[in-house]
Amino acid sequence: MSKSVAGPEIEHLIQLLAKVPGLGPRSARRAALQMIKKKEQLLGPLARAMDDAYREVRICGTCGNVDSRDPCTVCTDPRRDRGVIVVVEDVADLWALERAAALNALYHVLGGTLSPLDGIGPEDLTIRQLVERAATGEIREIVIAVNATVEGQTTAHYITDQLQGLAITVTRLAHGVPVGGELDYLDEGTLSAAMRQRTKL
Ligand SMILES: [Zn+2]
Repeated sequence: MSKSVAGPEIEHLIQLLAKVPGLGPRSARRAALQMIKKKEQLLGPLARAMDDAYREVRICGTCGNVDSRDPCTVCTDPRRDRGVIVVVEDVADLWALERAAALNALYHVLGGTLSPLDGIGPEDLTIRQLVERAATGEIREIVIAVNATVEGQTTAHYITDQLQGLAITVTRLAHGVPVGGELDYLDEGTLSAAMRQRTKL
């Protein structure tokens, strides 16, 4: 145990902050100190924002997004194309695609990927709910935007099988050369996938 430099309230704050992704113990100390110095401008508003989020946050019963309302802001947005569902593993992926303004569509958060070795089967994910959404007749396309991992691709194939028989186009993300990327720096898997999925100029 390292020696405490502050009272238990401040030590507790530092310990919790150190659990935030991206913050280690050192950054947590710096963050805590800044908050304490800016008690009125930062610590107070932050404490209230966290309390609000804690009380209001919920998981959307339709798509699995996290929001302060259910159905969520994305699901109730009338400007979206309601015929397309983008399937992602995690809420972080949904947010990343939204930041990129990749597609103005609906989403479905799986909550992970199939992984028999870890004991994660279809019933542990929201695949059944996805198939139910897909079967309503309003959906034209399902874009499977899962990670390019073995588990991600296994999950994509499983979902494609489950959607068989529905009049829906199932697509997946292209895998290839990153924008601004140099061929010489790419791994063989990325390079060969990019070659296989080459498009006409
Ligand atoms: Zn939603």
